[in-house]
Amino acid sequence: MSGTLYIVATPIGNLEDITLRALNTLKAVDLIACEDTRHTLKLLGHYGISDKPLLAYHNFNERTATERIIAELLQGKSVALVSDAGTPSISDPGFFLVRAAHAHRLRVVPIPGISALTAAVSVSPIPIRYFHFEGFLPPKKGRQARLKHLASLCSTIIFYESPHRLLKLLSEIELHFANPTVMIARELTKLHEEILLGSPTELKAKFESQKILGEFVVIVHCDTASHYEQTSENFSEHHPPESHADL
Ligand code: SAM
Repeated sequence: MSGTLYIVATPIGNLEDITLRALNTLKAVDLIACEDTRHTLKLLGHYGISDKPLLAYHNFNERTATERIIAELLQGKSVALVSDAGTPSISDPGFFLVRAAHAHRLRVVPIPGISALTAAVSVSPIPIRYFHFEGFLPPKKGRQARLKHLASLCSTIIFYESPHRLLKLLSEIELHFANPTVMIARELTKLHEEILLGSPTELKAKFESQKILGEFVVIVHCDTASHYEQTSENFSEHHPPESHADL
């Protein structure tokens, strides 16, 4: 019988952000496929999971590593895929393997947990009833065209951005979006976690005066967006009172 592929979410900073099911899965599988073996060994070491065979699966070997992992699964081995942080396949390697596993009619099981995306959305004071997750923009070619397109979507847009492009992204948002409000979630779950809200100009002023360090999620909401506003009134329309909630 074929084995199962588990897609396992791991912490984005704070090592306690991992589920019991994720730990039990990592303990139980025959093989763990991971982006950076040193990084994953630290996590496994922290939770006393030792002697687990690891296999590198990253952006540069996705095809060959996928073949190897599919072969292991077809032989009946169980495999967990983790990335360096958060949920695999979300701006991380994973999709190629998941697609191949489905093509071979193998069982693919999500072991859900944290992602910088959902963590940022969960603390957003700007409307996120509808949003478009963009992840990383292309660094150069096609970047401005993509931003223009995103500005036309009339939706809240969520970006991942590196520290050295944060100021550039804020300037671009200012250029392409109408009266944008921006939330920046920096270093979520870590010591220097910060949630900042303002116009691109205000946020640029803050970051221009310091060395920009850390990891960032940027949420943009533009004023002219005609999408459904998340007022307290319509929120209750779409969410049952607490007594009816499935807690
Ligand atoms: N798979 C991950 C997930 O589920 O969020 C995302 C991996 S992607 C390679 C890394 C990017 O995610 C970072 O550049 C940053 O934009 C965002 N990110 C990851 N950890 C973060 C954190 N602790 N705080 C804020 N953003 C974070």
